[in-house]
Amino acid sequence: MNQVQLKDKKFSLFIEEERILASIVALAEKINIDYKDKNPLFIGVLNGSFMFASDLLKNISLDCEISFVKISSYDGTSSTGKINNLIGLNQDISGRDVIVLEDIVDTGNTIENLYNTIIAKNPNSIKFATLLLKPDVYKKSIKLDYVAISIANDFIVGYGLDYDGLGRNLRDIYKITK
Ligand code: 5GP
Ligand code: MG
Repeated sequence: MNQVQLKDKKFSLFIEEERILASIVALAEKINIDYKDKNPLFIGVLNGSFMFASDLLKNISLDCEISFVKISSYDGTSSTGKINNLIGLNQDISGRDVIVLEDIVDTGNTIENLYNTIIAKNPNSIKFATLLLKPDVYKKSIKLDYVAISIANDFIVGYGLDYDGLGRNLRDIYKITK
């Protein structure tokens, strides 16, 4: 499929599943080395990270746990900068080595908010892994320890990412057609 239409917008094929999976395997291998002899707690950020979290975890060979939280700063196709509350972080994470899993980092508002909330719960360490990064937009100082793929500042869908709720089920990533 080279083109998809979701509601009023057209999208064209951008990153194929094969490349997505290869970059996730490479990222998992780095985590397996960096966290050797540790038992990290992955925290996936819903909804967008569900496919990334699933494929990443299949390639993690450490004893590990995963939990999911929900937060959102997006409305339609542009960042509103509006941050909603974090839902789902109910367990004790003190002393844990936390790795946050994001689908995409754009302005960084979401991960900054997550960082502040998680660090207040006294983990031993906190790192961020993201499937996608828009480096031209990201201006925050929080270090992104694991980035699978960097992209230009275009709106994308697929592989967990949505446009107005649609497109999360697509295996490949699509870019909006201007
Ligand atoms: P930030 O807070 O870094 O500006 O935005 C992060 C969140 O906005 C991501 O977790 C994602 O849910 C959403 N987002 C950012 N860029 C895109 C994009 O190109 N496409 C989609 N579908 N969501 C995006
Ligand atoms: Mg997200």
